[in-house]
Amino acid sequence: MSARDVEGDARTATRAAATTGDVMNDTTRDVRPAGFCPRCGARLRAWGELGGDEREVARRLPASADFTRGERERRHRWCTRCWHEEARAPSRDA
Ligand SMILES: [Zn+2]
Repeated sequence: MSARDVEGDARTATRAAATTGDVMNDTTRDVRPAGFCPRCGARLRAWGELGGDEREVARRLPASADFTRGERERRHRWCTRCWHEEARAPSRDA
C-alpha cells in the first residue's frame, strides 16, 4: 500500500520536472533580432522616433529612476505597444 504511494509520488515528480524543462527551453529561446520588443514583438523606437505624447509616457516609465534623461534619450528604445524599455549596452558611444 505504501509502496504504491511512493510510486505515485515519483511519477508526479517526473512530470513536474518535465514541465520545468519546457519552461526553461522557452526562456532560453530568446534570440529575437535586436530592435524588437522581447515581450510583444513590436518594433522598438528610439527617442527621436517617439511622438510628443509617447515621450510623455516614456518619461514616466519606472526606468526614469535608474537612468538620467539624457542617457535614456541617447541609448534606450521603447515599445509603444506595451511600453517595455530596452536599455542598450553602453559600448561604442561616440
Ligand atoms: Zn512590446
